[in-house]
Amino acid sequence: MNSKRTDRKSSLAQPKETKSANSRKKKVSPTNPKENSSKTYLPPKNFYLTQYMRKIIVQIGQTDTFQCHVCPSKPILQRRSVYGHIKSSIHEISSTKDTNAHEELVTKINELGDHNTTKYKGNKEETVEDKRNYLEFLAFAMKENFSFCQISALGKFLKKLIQNKKTSFFNLFNFDEEEISKIATNVGDVLIEELINDLNSSKYSVSIDNVTVTGKSICALKVKYLKEVEDENNKMSKTQICNRIIGIEYLNETSDAPTLCNIMEEKLFSLSDRIKENFIGITHDDASVLSGSNGGLVALLKGIS
Ligand SMILES: [Zn+2]
Repeated sequence: MNSKRTDRKSSLAQPKETKSANSRKKKVSPTNPKENSSKTYLPPKNFYLTQYMRKIIVQIGQTDTFQCHVCPSKPILQRRSVYGHIKSSIHEISSTKDTNAHEELVTKINELGDHNTTKYKGNKEETVEDKRNYLEFLAFAMKENFSFCQISALGKFLKKLIQNKKTSFFNLFNFDEEEISKIATNVGDVLIEELINDLNSSKYSVSIDNVTVTGKSICALKVKYLKEVEDENNKMSKTQICNRIIGIEYLNETSDAPTLCNIMEEKLFSLSDRIKENFIGITHDDASVLSGSNGGLVALLKGIS
C-alpha cells in the first residue's frame, strides 16, 4: 500500500512539479555549469523553516525529494508533501523526542498555510494538501471496490484512531493477508459471542434465502434486531437496526423445509432457550418450501416455537 501511495502521489503532483522544477533549473544551471542541470535541484531558500527541520528532513542527493529521518519508516517525500507530512499525525507521534521543536515547526507551517495553502476561508485547518490527501484516500477505497458505506465507516474509524493518537501500530505491522486471515479466525469468535449476547437480550427476526452458486446450493441466515448503542458524537444512546449474518450453510440436493428448519435449529435456537424465545418473525421470498402452510418452513417453525 505504501508504494502505491507514493506512486500515486508523485503522479498527482506531477503537473505543478514539472513547472516549478523547470523554473528552478534556470536559476540553478548558471551556478553549476558543468553539471547536468536536469538532475540538479536545490530547495528554495525559504523551504527550511527551522534548524530542526533541516536536521530531520534531508534532501535526497540533489533531487526534489526528501526523506524524513524522524518517522521509523523513513518515508521519502516530494517537496510539496513535506509540510503536510510534518503536520501529519504519524509524524507527530514519531516526534516525541523533540516535541517543542516539532510544535515550533508546525506553527511556522501553519503561518505559511494561512497565506499560501489554505483554499477555503471557512476552515483554516483545511489546506489544499489535506484536500488532495482526502481525495487520494477516497480514490483508493473506490478502486478497491469498497462501498460508500464501508468507506464512510473506515474513514470515521481512522479519524477516531488519529484523534486518540492510537496509530503507532501502522508502523509496526505489515497488514499481510495471511496474518489478517489468522486474526480473523479469532475475531470471528469474539463477534459471534457479541451476537449471541445481542440475541439473548432483544427480539429479532430472521431472513432466509437460498441461492445456487456454480451448481452448489447455499442457504444464508440473517438476523435483524434493534440495539442500543452510544452515539460517537454526542455520547447519547441511540437505537440502531443491526443486520448480521449468522450462518451460511451448503445444502444438499434437497433444500426442503425440514432441512432449513434444522439449519435454524442448529445455527440459532440451539444457542440458548432465550434466543429461541426472542425469535419473533421470518422474512423470505415466497418460495413454497418456505411459506407453504402445509409443511413449509414457517409452518414447521410455528410448531417448534
Ligand atoms: Zn516524518
